[in-house]
Amino acid sequence: MRLQSKLLLSFGSVLIAAFILVEIIGYQQTHEKMLAGLRQDAREIRAILMATRRVYQHQFVDSGLPLNEKTLGFLPAHALRRISDDFRNWSSSGLSFNNVSDRPRNPKNQADAIELEAMDWFRDHPKQKERLIPFTDQQGQSYYHFSSPIWIEEYCLKCHGDKDAAPETIRETYATSYNYQLGDLRDLMSIKLPAHFIEDEVLAQRLNEMWGHLLAFALAFGFGAWLLRRLVIQRLTLLQSAVGDLAKGDYATRVPVQGRDELCELASAFNTMAEQRQQAESLRQESEQQVRDLLDSTAEAIYGVDNEGRCTLTNPACLQMLGYPDAGELIGKALHPLIHHTKADGTPHPLDECLIDKAWRDGQATHTAEDIFWRSDGSSFPVEFSAYPIRRDGEVVGAVVTFLDITERLQNEESLRRAQKMEAVGQLTGGIAHDFNNLLGIMLGNLDFLQRLVADDEKASKRVQTTTKAALRATDLTKQLLGFSRRESKNITATDLNQVIRGMKNLIARSVTPEVEVEVQLAEGLWLTEIDRGDLQDALLNLVLNARDAMPNGGKLTIETANRVLDAIYEEQNPIADQGDYVQLAVSDNGSGIPAEALEHIFEPFFTTKPEGKGTGLGMSMVYGFTQRSKGYIKAYSEPGIGTTVRLYLPRSGDQVQESTRPTDKKTGLPRGNEVILIVDDEADLLELAKDHLETLGYHTIVAENGKQALQKLAEAEHIDLLFSDVVMPGGINGYELAEQATTKRPELKVLLTSGFTKKAIAKNGQAQFSATLLNKPYSKAELAWRVRETLDG
Ligand code: ADP
Ligand code: MG
Repeated sequence: MRLQSKLLLSFGSVLIAAFILVEIIGYQQTHEKMLAGLRQDAREIRAILMATRRVYQHQFVDSGLPLNEKTLGFLPAHALRRISDDFRNWSSSGLSFNNVSDRPRNPKNQADAIELEAMDWFRDHPKQKERLIPFTDQQGQSYYHFSSPIWIEEYCLKCHGDKDAAPETIRETYATSYNYQLGDLRDLMSIKLPAHFIEDEVLAQRLNEMWGHLLAFALAFGFGAWLLRRLVIQRLTLLQSAVGDLAKGDYATRVPVQGRDELCELASAFNTMAEQRQQAESLRQESEQQVRDLLDSTAEAIYGVDNEGRCTLTNPACLQMLGYPDAGELIGKALHPLIHHTKADGTPHPLDECLIDKAWRDGQATHTAEDIFWRSDGSSFPVEFSAYPIRRDGEVVGAVVTFLDITERLQNEESLRRAQKMEAVGQLTGGIAHDFNNLLGIMLGNLDFLQRLVADDEKASKRVQTTTKAALRATDLTKQLLGFSRRESKNITATDLNQVIRGMKNLIARSVTPEVEVEVQLAEGLWLTEIDRGDLQDALLNLVLNARDAMPNGGKLTIETANRVLDAIYEEQNPIADQGDYVQLAVSDNGSGIPAEALEHIFEPFFTTKPEGKGTGLGMSMVYGFTQRSKGYIKAYSEPGIGTTVRLYLPRSGDQVQESTRPTDKKTGLPRGNEVILIVDDEADLLELAKDHLETLGYHTIVAENGKQALQKLAEAEHIDLLFSDVVMPGGINGYELAEQATTKRPELKVLLTSGFTKKAIAKNGQAQFSATLLNKPYSKAELAWRVRETLDG
């Protein structure tokens, strides 16, 4: 039953009880009032009757009539008897009265039971003057009996005294002696009032009042119910719904508090509680959110398992790495058979060997630096993972596993390992090449000396020449080796790669077989790069030659340049590259390609797949050395059977593109000039080649075959701008000495020396200025053109 009904029922019951009580009390009061009225009425009737009785008595006594049959009717008791009988004839009210006696002369006046009892009562209570009691007669009628005693007085004895003492006139009427004594109680004035008089009256009045009471109580009930609703039920309902909201998790509901009663206290206690719950809830949510944020944001994969190895939690990184779209696919599942079932070598990974399961099984934290996990698509990836037991109250209830995809790290480690290897190889070869070069210098010098000694002996001379050729070839090789291992470049300038390539177009075309189609794509607005131009030419030539060799039956060679911005992502993927602006040179072919096993080694010196005598294995190492020195880097991409692309990334120079005012060769893009150049070389072929090159570029040339001749020409000539001389020459004067003497004579003369040897081998004190700008043999036309132009321009 609802509280409201209960309260209303209780209130209603109380009201009904009160109503009944009021009615009972009302009844009693009305009854009493009525009874009092009745008593008063009875008194009045008695007074009339007594007065009537007295009148008769006096009349009779005063008349002096004798008491006989005829006068008997004048006696008071007789008269009253008649009045009483007559009254009963006249009135139908049921009221009756009579003067009765326990020893009457007229038997009709004999007192009945109730009247006899009243007489006895009065005898016992002589001071009482009246009595009113309810009684029921033999017919079952209810009455009120009002009675009052009539004590015997003097005059009564006249008729009711002793027979002998009675007057003679009435003596014969005495049946017996009455023997009344003075002060006896022999008569009673008895009035019987029908009770229905009162009962009807009381009932009518009660009924009358009861309607009023009923209305009042109904109003009281209504008002009470209204108050109850307003003061209690309504507020309780509010509280109840607020508590319901709270139970459902809505912590924002508050109950209005107005006043200071118990319900208000309850409401305010509820509000305080809700407030605290809300705060606690928001704190809980916040900390939950923080944990979620951490799990969602970390790049590390995290998952949890219970103490049977079933997944309980995953973070987004974990799902992403394992290739599951949502956590539902993993939660509740045993993870070992899903992601850790097979080892890297393809053999099954038994659960009892699993280091993750050790964490939840034995409560032992484990770390594994390298292992593999399996993705949902069946592929695997290398991981590093840690597993830690989760303890609750000292008992292991599961484990938390964190892992990282280490594909990138392994790749980086691999590239670093390679870079370090190249570095070590570079140092080694550099050291050897350097010493070798010095030794070759000595050998060549001595062979030169020998050549002159045996000039007349044709056989010996031939041998010396053969040896010299071999030594020169060895010098070439060491030069290439040095190209790989040299740490610094000689002539670093801001260079326009496009310009260099344009200058090499002819050379490139001549270097490849006719079946090879050459395409050059040069990016517009290419940035400058800080490199050694000669080195670049060598590198490009090496790449072109490799491409040619890879396409024995012809194919397509593409040379491209482009600006490239390498960002952090690129740097991450290629740990040896620094981010920044680069100029990219790419050389591609659609030749044989390089198998993966070989690709790793192509930059190593002496690594070649070509037959003996054809490959030296020094080309790529030179290119590698060049990019290293230029603070750039190199990447080779190859698909066997499809082709190879080698990309050089050379750092962008801060300098602006220098618009050369110099005339350049239209065909080759090489710088031209019209200055006078003295060319000195003891090798006729080389001398001829240099003369040819320079003249096609617009220069005027004078040639000399040795130092002596050169000094002579210098003396003869009116004007010479540049001395271009070999270093090692027969005839007593080497290139350095020549340069020294020539510049003493003509201080404005510019000098460019060329040699197959390293500068250190031969340069003496004071000749360093010339060795610094040494042009290494063999040189290309482009190299010559640029270096000549640079020297002339200072
Ligand atoms: P060499 O050319 O003397 O063999 P390199 O250092 O120039 O020496 O090249 C090393 C090796 O790299 C070559 O022998 C060849 O196997 C491989 N290689 C280089 N470039 C290419 C290319 N474009 N196509 C196929 N293989 C190449
Ligand atoms: Mg090569």
